[in-house]
Amino acid sequence: MIIDMHAHSKGISRCCQLTYKENIDIAKNVGIDAIILTNHYARAYLKFYDNVEELVGCYHNEYKEAKSYGESVGVKVYYGVEITLTDDIRVHLLAYGVDESFLSAHPYVFDYPLKKIQKTVHEYGGILVQAHPFRCGDKLVDTDYLDGVEISCHPKYFTTSQADVKKVAKEKDVIITCGADYHGDTPYRPICGLVVDELPKDINAIVKILTSSNKKTLLIHEVNAEKPEQFSY
Ligand SMILES: [Zn+2]
Ligand SMILES: [Zn+2]
Repeated sequence: MIIDMHAHSKGISRCCQLTYKENIDIAKNVGIDAIILTNHYARAYLKFYDNVEELVGCYHNEYKEAKSYGESVGVKVYYGVEITLTDDIRVHLLAYGVDESFLSAHPYVFDYPLKKIQKTVHEYGGILVQAHPFRCGDKLVDTDYLDGVEISCHPKYFTTSQADVKKVAKEKDVIITCGADYHGDTPYRPICGLVVDELPKDINAIVKILTSSNKKTLLIHEVNAEKPEQFSY
């Protein structure tokens, strides 16, 4: 079974063209069994809401609705967050394993320095992964404050940068995740993610798989490749 670890819906992520329903339907059609809904969480979104509490409320509402719709059509939806660093808006950080109480207690997490973001995510039992490092000149942040790096199969960019990501993961001893980051504005929907025998009951169980010393298998859909390929580490 495949868990796409990076997904958006336009109710929150302004750059995404798909509603959560459309995103889930398309994922199901290509054989994705579950998605982690990692909508953008950025200071720039504050202007669309009366206050930060409203942003957090809408963020969680979108997740709840997506989860419930996913249940009705047989696609499991897990909770995640893609934080845009206020200090450098090209740096996107995926928080996995935190629940809704994380943003409720830390609504200005995007303003924190990297070290504090990781520390906070850890306090909630989660892990912090840099999304799409190396994408079009994007810089890798200090890996001392990362638990993982992502192979992004976003079809809009010319490569997944998987060789660079694998090299960093090996050298710095951090995990690798994989996701489509599909926004609905590209010619095809990548088929990628974490491969599991059965769907874990919650996001914490996914984090357990990722951080265990057992072999992990990812499905990587290289940009414009006809078929995805399995990679284990
Ligand atoms: Zn991103
Ligand atoms: Zn994204």
